[in-house]
Amino acid sequence: MTKCSFCGIEEHDFKGVHLIKNDGTIDFFCGSKCRKNALKLGRDKRRMKWTEAYRLSRAKAEADAARLKEKAAEVKAAKSAKAEGKVAVKAKK
Ligand SMILES: [Zn+2]
Repeated sequence: MTKCSFCGIEEHDFKGVHLIKNDGTIDFFCGSKCRKNALKLGRDKRRMKWTEAYRLSRAKAEADAARLKEKAAEVKAAKSAKAEGKVAVKAKK
């Protein structure tokens, strides 16, 4: 089983096309769709919705967004707690 270098799907070795470049790297394309998108059309695999690279980049972006939201909520909570503490100190005086 070989992983397609464009869509990331595992496919048998006897299927698809192995492209061996002059520098020795081997690219495997599971079908003509992946081969044409990569070589002929020059498309970025991270921008095609049906590829593994897109799903991975999307998941990473969503995780980053969730992490930023959590951080913002923590900062907000800390600020409100600080403000409440100041109010409490003022009330004591
Ligand atoms: Zn593919």
